[in-house]
Amino acid sequence: MINLDDILYQVTRPARYTGGEWNSIQKDWDKTPIRIALSYPDLYEIGMSTLALPILYELLNRQPDVLAERVYAPWPDMEAAMRHSGIPLFSLESRHPLKDFDIVSFSLGYELTYTNVLNMLDLAQIPVLAAARSDAHPLVIAGGCCTFNPEPMADFIDLFVIGEGEAILPELLSAFRDSRTATKVELLRRLATIPGIYVPSLYQVDYEANGQFKSITPIATEASPCIQRQLVTELPPPPTKPVVPYIEVTHDRGAVEIQRGCSNGCRFCQAGTIYRPVRERPLEELLQAVGELITNCGYNEISLVSLTTSTYPHIDQLVAKLFQRYEANHLILSLPSLRTEKLSPELLNSLATHKRTGLTFAPETGSERLRRVINKNISNDDILNTASEVFSHGWTSLKLYFMLGLPTETTDDVEAIIGLVDSIRASGGRGRSKPQLKISLSAFVPKPHTPFQWVAQQSEAELVAKHELLQQGLGRKGIRLFWNNPKVRRLEAVLSRGDRRLGRVIYRAWQLGSTFDGWSEQFNYPNWLQAFKEANLTPDFYAQRERSLDEALPWSHIDTGVTLAFLKREYQYALKNRVTPDCRYHPCNSCGLQRWHPTCQQRYQSPNQSRR
Ligand code: SF4
Repeated sequence: MINLDDILYQVTRPARYTGGEWNSIQKDWDKTPIRIALSYPDLYEIGMSTLALPILYELLNRQPDVLAERVYAPWPDMEAAMRHSGIPLFSLESRHPLKDFDIVSFSLGYELTYTNVLNMLDLAQIPVLAAARSDAHPLVIAGGCCTFNPEPMADFIDLFVIGEGEAILPELLSAFRDSRTATKVELLRRLATIPGIYVPSLYQVDYEANGQFKSITPIATEASPCIQRQLVTELPPPPTKPVVPYIEVTHDRGAVEIQRGCSNGCRFCQAGTIYRPVRERPLEELLQAVGELITNCGYNEISLVSLTTSTYPHIDQLVAKLFQRYEANHLILSLPSLRTEKLSPELLNSLATHKRTGLTFAPETGSERLRRVINKNISNDDILNTASEVFSHGWTSLKLYFMLGLPTETTDDVEAIIGLVDSIRASGGRGRSKPQLKISLSAFVPKPHTPFQWVAQQSEAELVAKHELLQQGLGRKGIRLFWNNPKVRRLEAVLSRGDRRLGRVIYRAWQLGSTFDGWSEQFNYPNWLQAFKEANLTPDFYAQRERSLDEALPWSHIDTGVTLAFLKREYQYALKNRVTPDCRYHPCNSCGLQRWHPTCQQRYQSPNQSRR
């Protein structure tokens, strides 16, 4: 086991690296044949707050012949101490170096963690480039929402898992068990035959003379021209014995995923496509899971996680029953993502009579026209009525999310944000009793597999001008504005719609010292500009260029189940301010999943069936 005694005293928050937390699982290294490192390319406090890792941790460790151990990206002070002492990156459970594992997996949930993946491989003394790794090195795999455009990371990852781990990992493990004596090339070819697995080295990418992406073609018989997202029909029971951190993490509470997927159909939202269709957990399963979390972890605050928590059909009952059943535990519930129009008086009453957590709403924009463009069909009256209800139930503050630079946005739309924020504040009392509002503003990032995947991101100058307009309009006591650096959002837009050539840019930016790009104190845009220049590419080509609807897209070989025809239709509807109704309460919109998913097939065939 690696000894950290000589370096831990030099670093901030050493408990990030010590392991041994409550509920961590330590299996016998020598007696467990398949060893998997679950790597999260961000800080411990962030990784310990996500739901993806606990699901995989439990799923994998449940297999008798598999051990799964965690590793997070060391902060630069720890990285420097480790490099100085020659300590390779290690897992938290057994402190084995990552290079001793059979598989090193990365969760890719945010494009600005890409350089951390390279840095972690390097710190683990594993060659960063997949082509430089031999049979002696672990298989490097990646999953998560960023893999829906895997191309920018194709040079570094041996294979991508496209879709839900619960659906793909059993088959991947089984093939891995059967191929222990195979070479890496043989293993990758075998794994490429599994639905949902994409092995980038088995494909050739071609570009047009003008630099645009042209095509991606399999160069091995095992590789499929199209990788179909895999998903579970029914959600398995949620993990209820997650590792409990010793130090405060970003979301320091238990979490239960109450449903997966979202049927709202917001046109900017990638999650709305790649987690379709909605799959709900039964009420009783959730009531029990919360009880187990309380018993197994000692939490009294539980987050009910979903893309839109208030759209869970039994949310009123769930919240009321949870408070009733776990009253003795002084339960606090946090509902992280609420739709204003779906917030019932019963739900507000339940939440208001217990210890309150902050409420967050996302109107996204101030104008109803623009809200129709993005298919978030909520009226300003709905928002104001809900805000007024919230304040009358005793909340004294509210957090609101808005986006700037949405397609078709005008100055009038931006000014409408000022009007809406003022009205919301006015709905909550007068004078000193007026509520406090936190306004979070971020620049719109067009994402792959959404109806806005073709649109150009606005220039930094345009975004800054809009931000300044809001600063002037909302600069008063009681309102605090938070603004994401538009350069960070520019880089996110570049990496999310990039092609395989961006591997050279990511590699060079990392060589120049970029890591933790999502952290303002670490973000170094000049590094990236230099990396682009050396690769003879420009960020604007990827972020600020409108694509034609016929242009080949670098992620076209990844099939989410939602058809290109549907996305194009949604884009055309957006340009006409036309709304597509929520398929959970209205007839199926034939997005494509009716070909795959039993629930969708049913809804497609019985168009009048409503679920509420
Ligand atoms: S197939 Fe129909 S019901 Fe299923 S997610 Fe798509 S639009 Fe909704």
